[in-house]
Amino acid sequence: MYRTHTCGELRLEHVDTAVCLSGWIQKIRNLGAMTFIDLRDRYGITQLVVAETAPEDIRKAAAELGREFVIQVHGKVVERASKNNKIPTGEIEIIIERLQVLSRSEVPPFTIEDHTDGGDEIRMRYRYLDLRRQAVRKNLELRHRMAHLVRNYLDSFRFMEVETPVLIKSTPEGARDFVVPSRMNQGQFYALPQSPQTFKQLLMVAGFDRYYQIVKCFRDEDLRADRQPEFTQIDCEMSFVEREDVLGIFEGLIRHLFKEIRGIELPELPRMSWQDAMEYYGCDKPDLRFDMKFVNLTAAAQTKEFAVFNSAEYIGAICVPGCASYTRKQLDELTEFVKRPQIGAKGLVYVRYNEDGTLKSSVDKFYTEEDLKAWADTCQARPGDLLLILCGAKKTTLPQLCELRLEMGNRLGLRDKDVFKPLWVVDFPLLEWDEETQRFYAMHHPFTSPNPEDVDKMESDPGAVRANAYDMVINGVEVGGGSIRIHETGLQQRMFDCLGFTKEQAEAQFGFLLNAFKYGAPPHGGIAFGFDRLVSMFAGLDSIRDTIAFPKNNSGRDVMLDSPSEISDEQMKELAIQVTSH
Ligand code: ASP
Repeated sequence: MYRTHTCGELRLEHVDTAVCLSGWIQKIRNLGAMTFIDLRDRYGITQLVVAETAPEDIRKAAAELGREFVIQVHGKVVERASKNNKIPTGEIEIIIERLQVLSRSEVPPFTIEDHTDGGDEIRMRYRYLDLRRQAVRKNLELRHRMAHLVRNYLDSFRFMEVETPVLIKSTPEGARDFVVPSRMNQGQFYALPQSPQTFKQLLMVAGFDRYYQIVKCFRDEDLRADRQPEFTQIDCEMSFVEREDVLGIFEGLIRHLFKEIRGIELPELPRMSWQDAMEYYGCDKPDLRFDMKFVNLTAAAQTKEFAVFNSAEYIGAICVPGCASYTRKQLDELTEFVKRPQIGAKGLVYVRYNEDGTLKSSVDKFYTEEDLKAWADTCQARPGDLLLILCGAKKTTLPQLCELRLEMGNRLGLRDKDVFKPLWVVDFPLLEWDEETQRFYAMHHPFTSPNPEDVDKMESDPGAVRANAYDMVINGVEVGGGSIRIHETGLQQRMFDCLGFTKEQAEAQFGFLLNAFKYGAPPHGGIAFGFDRLVSMFAGLDSIRDTIAFPKNNSGRDVMLDSPSEISDEQMKELAIQVTSH
């Protein structure tokens, strides 16, 4: 037997018990007469002591130990003289009576403690050592717990977990596919699923009624902080449902998670139309932890000879509370911020609504104080507030104002990680026009059903058709999205027509689904949550990387495996892939 207890288990009540522990050595403190060893396993840390009076062989063995050695000790639990109230086992220690080295360790490349001296790259290269750190492991423990809660919740609503294949077929819609060459069918390729979308719909045709899967998905996209080439979704689908049914079940899931993990009782989730989200927050995932809704000043501000405003399609403002005292320097900084190429505004107009009731702006040349007061009133500003105004084409100005609003939220500390403001964004457009290719693309995916009220417009005014789609957004992050699906071949065909697919193209790509719909497809709909994002939000992390045991770096590389990598000429030949010299 390697152990009677774990390293996180022993308390005062165990004093005088003979125990056996196994684990890794986190730290050794040699105080001359006494040696203290911190022994670590997944469950915690227990202090071991080699006393002055210990037998010679134990003192000798202890002198040869090093960090990260795996050892087994037998000993007796005693009460500590100086207690450590920072750890649960801090009231006791073990007097070592027998010590055995189970495995030696080289000096680790970084310290394996919560605050490590290891940089990112090295921690990723030795991820198995990084994962020994409590600070990292606790994210994986949270992930495990959340997956468990999700499974239990969905199981209680009779969802059935079904595995769908990983080697599937490439489709040109959506993001770029990862492809896998087939040896047995030379010159042909599988694709890795971007999501199990079509399979879950086929499972509905198959009568499974309620499906879910915690599943890996793959998208060959440019990486960002919250993206990984492979990521995990909680993927769900239900039959005989309307939008309300789906929203109800999954609002319940999110509330369940918040209650169990964070002890938070969420109020009913508000709903916002996509149109309003864009108009008032400039994006489809508004952060509702703070206010600063956009105010349209176009009419109110096009009253004088200020050409910049007069030629603008849209003039929008945010009212920043208590910032009228911003200095020239701070305002210049904000101007620089919005002019950065990533944001791309031409300039920033401000109005200070001073505490004494006077108003000062960067456009005083053109507008009187009365004009400015009218703007301030439109914005429901109060003395002490600062108006920040951007203008230009509406489509470009809204997202710029969105960035500025988030920046002000950051500056004012209004984006507290422990505050959660979830909402549903609904009524997305069904289609999105792409200038470059001069065609419509499905905003969600081609199987999303149009809002029944708008079906008539699919041919006459496709851009105005709303989708029966919904996103769950928390704190400015899209954590999930889904839709009610099309379940009739005829309507699906009309959707493909909107996307400019010929009958042959639709048949070649999605023939299997269209065929399936010929044999009795139930009305159905579903949703998928980004599991990594959800975990990182509950863990209070900025990136999804530390919620994943073995993540890839920002260039999509696994630096531990050193992958992607070349394959042998032999393998290339077998796959009939042209061997290039390397
Ligand atoms: N498959 C969709 C996605 O990955 C989600 C859904 O519509 O259920 O975004």
